[in-house]
Amino acid sequence: MQRAMQAAYLPGNSTVELRTVPVPVPSHGEVLLRIKASTICGSDIRAIYHEHLGKGPEGYQGVIAGHEPCGQIVEVGPGCRRFNVGDRVIVYHISGCGVCNDCRRGYMISCTSQKYRRAYGWQRDGAMAGYMLAEEKDLIALPDQLSYADGAQVACGFGTVYEGIEKIGISGDHSVLITGLGPVGLAAAAIARKLGAQKIIGIDVVEERLKLAKDMGLCDETLASGADNVSQIKDLTGGFGVERAVECSANAAARATAVRATRKWGRIVFIGEGGGVQLNPSPDLIHDQKTIYGSWVTSTWLMEELTERLVRWGLHPADIVTHRFALSQVSDAYALMASGKCGKVAVCFDEELQATSAEGMNRK
Ligand SMILES: [Zn+2]
Ligand SMILES: [Zn+2]
Repeated sequence: MQRAMQAAYLPGNSTVELRTVPVPVPSHGEVLLRIKASTICGSDIRAIYHEHLGKGPEGYQGVIAGHEPCGQIVEVGPGCRRFNVGDRVIVYHISGCGVCNDCRRGYMISCTSQKYRRAYGWQRDGAMAGYMLAEEKDLIALPDQLSYADGAQVACGFGTVYEGIEKIGISGDHSVLITGLGPVGLAAAAIARKLGAQKIIGIDVVEERLKLAKDMGLCDETLASGADNVSQIKDLTGGFGVERAVECSANAAARATAVRATRKWGRIVFIGEGGGVQLNPSPDLIHDQKTIYGSWVTSTWLMEELTERLVRWGLHPADIVTHRFALSQVSDAYALMASGKCGKVAVCFDEELQATSAEGMNRK
């Protein structure tokens, strides 16, 4: 096997730096993955690409970028207990201490150990490289029916959405509002559809995203973001508003819309990160008996459950990948994602890079 690889770093001035670095060697409890697909997240753009804004869990420590890894195990370190060379795996993108209360619940995202909590692509080397080290405890088996690009979406976007949707519960009883139709919002629409939702309404400011959501059949109605959104949504739902809302934009006005366009007894989940919102608790929540949930990423067990559901539903998260790039073109990949004029953007290797035309997407 080659012992040097290309790897992408984000210096924080809206550029990407490719460096040649050694291929790492797995130590105890670790595996070496051949990366097959590594997708770019909104959080990479928000907190690292333009500027290193993040603190704590979002503090970027100059490591190899990329926190949505999916690949194949090519080396197994000593002490591994389950996975073997050749296994196809997704990586839960935060490696936790394993022994705090949050880790024991499977929510390594909120691991409380300052010393041992390290997110791939933030505080430890990530997936924008030919190879990546991962701890065995962070691995989720990728079912044969899912592609590596599917798996990379499970790692962050679809897992995050699945968690939020499980909290509010969505079924065929519900009309659903999704505010923000980036990759996370599109994932929310795709899962809500599989859970039976018949009327899915999406809002965004970017015209390309509204069109994408409609063209892919993920939203039944799309609305350009604006001051009339609440009354428009009420008109579309018999005057009552939706039963469920999934807020993916982090925009203050969209958050208020998500709450106010939800009917009495309805449930709203806030997933989009950053920013603020102004609400009037009595009319917006208390008098209408509404509940707002907050939801941060997901747990290892729910992520594992999601992979099984995706197969059962015949849902391929890679359908929201609109563009694939080789690692040599990683700069273009980040620039496109930063423009917002796309679905999900993936850096791919080997067979996954060839898969472009096989996809249902690339419809514009
Ligand atoms: Zn992500
Ligand atoms: Zn922990």
